[in-house]
Amino acid sequence: MGHEEEELLNRAKEIAKIEFPGSHWSYLSLRDKEEMLERAKKVYSYKPAEEKRVCRVCGCTDTNACIVEGGEGEDIISTCYWVEADLCSACAEKEAFRRAECAEIEQASCRMHSPNP
Ligand SMILES: [Zn+2]
Ligand SMILES: [Zn+2]
Repeated sequence: MGHEEEELLNRAKEIAKIEFPGSHWSYLSLRDKEEMLERAKKVYSYKPAEEKRVCRVCGCTDTNACIVEGGEGEDIISTCYWVEADLCSACAEKEAFRRAECAEIEQASCRMHSPNP
């Protein structure tokens, strides 16, 4: 596996952690894995021409990233990374959390509840 493919896979796994909290990568369906890889590819190959990359939710940028607490009991502080071309990991986690919550209470009116349009 080339270095770039490895990097892509790592990215895909990071995204999967947010999209499928609690599910190990190896338990995801092939379709989900492919989707995560596609998304990782998009983020990886995204090269802002002139405009600055800005998160569509919180407005953070590469030079002004969100501070997030390290996951899985680690007492570390890190910064957000790009999950989509214009969505940072901090906001993606919040969205995933809200989606899970809505699914639980079956609040169909919530816009986060409906799958991607
Ligand atoms: Zn954000
Ligand atoms: Zn951010």
